[in-house]
Amino acid sequence: MEVTGATQIPAISELAAKAQKAFVDKFGCEPQCAAYAPGRVNLIGEHTDYNEGFVFPMALPQVTVLVGRKSEGNLCRVLTLADSVDAPNYVEFPVPSAETPLKPGTPKWANYVKGVVANYKGTVVPFDAVVISSVPLGGGVSSSASLEVATYTFLDVLTNSGSDISKKDKALACQKAEHEFAGMPCGIMDQFISVMGQEGHALLIDCRSMEGQLVPMNDPNVVVLVTNSNVKHELTGSEYPTRKKQCEVAAQLMNKKSLREATMKDLEEMKSKLDDVTYKRARHVIGEIIRTEEAAKCLELGDYTRFGKLMVESHNALRDDYEVSCPELDELVSAAMEVDGVYGSRMTGGGFGGCTVTLLKKEAVEKAIQHIQKRYSQTATFYVCPPASGAGPLALV
Ligand code: ADP
Ligand code: MG
Repeated sequence: MEVTGATQIPAISELAAKAQKAFVDKFGCEPQCAAYAPGRVNLIGEHTDYNEGFVFPMALPQVTVLVGRKSEGNLCRVLTLADSVDAPNYVEFPVPSAETPLKPGTPKWANYVKGVVANYKGTVVPFDAVVISSVPLGGGVSSSASLEVATYTFLDVLTNSGSDISKKDKALACQKAEHEFAGMPCGIMDQFISVMGQEGHALLIDCRSMEGQLVPMNDPNVVVLVTNSNVKHELTGSEYPTRKKQCEVAAQLMNKKSLREATMKDLEEMKSKLDDVTYKRARHVIGEIIRTEEAAKCLELGDYTRFGKLMVESHNALRDDYEVSCPELDELVSAAMEVDGVYGSRMTGGGFGGCTVTLLKKEAVEKAIQHIQKRYSQTATFYVCPPASGAGPLALV
């Protein structure tokens, strides 16, 4: 759908063709295989995945693509066409073995690829590959998971071993890659949705049982608008682990395995024993888990008005209790909520910058883009995003 003011999302085939050309330029031969995996936008359920709660993402039409082929020798050689990564944009590393396991290093971007190679549940063969992506990097729509899952899927295609492990184990291997090689103790959401997303559906993931439930999201009159604030506040990097720790402390104090097990009543009873910050963190998580389950039901019923209200409640809790928003995200959400036909809007992803997600009537989308941009103090980028499909192989032409 072409929308004035929105950035056109390139077709996967277009990305693959560009990567294919770059591959020929770099390696002097044609690539043999290709795979892609999508980024994701989380509709609601933020900072709940590592608390064993519910999350409700959908796969985006923006994807990461790897094209490549088996190579001679013992090296894996990877070129990324992304322009905002740390230099150099090309790396070589040996196929790992028991004696020479892979370790994270520099450039940092390659750690996502290496982490997947190291955690691949099959035999890794030497390969050459080119990476290209339409997922904004560091924008809170999980370019990292899309790179991991695209790499895993590429290795499957390269070695013809696509069906050897379950989708769940594949997602978990990619999550492990992010933990061990990117030093990011993320939950399971990003990798799960990148593997399991389906066109026209959002996925309610129960991060305790690790079960996913697809919920149709294909009303032609309703649109998901992803707005990139194009800011990323440089923080110490410890915010995510700190929040995670605070949640663990709160759960422990309430004698619960995780905040998933806790109710608002449990929290209120413990209030005097918790410091104010820990209390607020837990209040966000417990409330968000309830909101997320309800939101999935609303979507099933087509109750977009209630869904939108839950999105705004989610944003407010992330801003006030979890304290992971920032002025730019707050501006984008406030501006979106001023537009007729907007059901709801919230920050999405880890926070401190990145994107917002807005649910609105299709007829309101151009007006919404115009209004949000007019009210925003910076320059935003807008994407109209129908729920897309999870990772898969690609045919090269
Ligand atoms: P997000 O996942 O929200 O986009 P992260 O900080 O988790 O943000 O991941 C972004 C990082 O992932 C980038 O800085 C880069 O290191 C790596 N990355 C993502 N996509 C690519 C790509 N196409 N090529 C190389 N590195 C990438
Ligand atoms: Mg990420």
